[in-house]
Amino acid sequence: MSPSRPTWVAGNWKMQGSLAGNAALVTALKAGLPKALKGEIVLCAPYPYLEQVARLLSGSEMTLGAQDVSAHAAGAFTGEVSAAMLADFGCRYVLVGHSERRQLHGEADPMVAEKFGAALQSGLRPVLCLGETLSEREAGQTEKVVIRQMEAVLALHGVAAFQNAILAYEPVWAIGTGRVAAPEEAEAVHRTLRERLAAEDNAIAAGLRIVYGGSVKADNAPSLFNQPNIDGGLIGGASLKAEDFLAICRAANF
Ligand code: PEP
Repeated sequence: MSPSRPTWVAGNWKMQGSLAGNAALVTALKAGLPKALKGEIVLCAPYPYLEQVARLLSGSEMTLGAQDVSAHAAGAFTGEVSAAMLADFGCRYVLVGHSERRQLHGEADPMVAEKFGAALQSGLRPVLCLGETLSEREAGQTEKVVIRQMEAVLALHGVAAFQNAILAYEPVWAIGTGRVAAPEEAEAVHRTLRERLAAEDNAIAAGLRIVYGGSVKADNAPSLFNQPNIDGGLIGGASLKAEDFLAICRAANF
């Protein structure tokens, strides 16, 4: 972590939760965290629970996020949820391009870039998820893949759009597998992304938070967060248990 960038840690609950379970989880997180946070902690809840979690978060500095957003502003898009609706419910962040959306729902770079723009239009901060598959890594294509994914957004929105965004490097082979990237491996990818952006704008690149996701747990979090270009984490499985998520937040200095 670099002292010049505020730490950012988010929990991605995926399609998990219940009214009772969410209440217990958020209550335990509020009790276990200091009132004044040094950076940002975001809870990305499933759509139906956004209102509940927003209510539960009152009196806390943790903020609300969503896991996906429509690329469209409004209209005949059955089942989709617009960025304005998410903002209405108090969301500050939204994930775009999570690997599960890319792989299971066929979201390609151009659509992810549109979603990124839709989020910004409604005042949400997009969390752009990037990452290579195992076969891409084995073929030595990691950097090429993540740069391509980032450049799709750069081409559509320009570098200024990254002022209000987060990048989440999540190697697909590490998500939910228990197989975490080595800190130096992740750091190298983060540095590559920052350098690519610095070629467009040094100040924006220096201020951008690039977080790591993929099987982050309390025991591996400290060595990941110690890397100079890793500014926090996007946490899936370990964000569902208060004790695990709190331990990760502590490793991130909250
Ligand atoms: C994720 O869902 O983005 C994620 C990183 O999951 P996990 O921490 O379970 O690997």
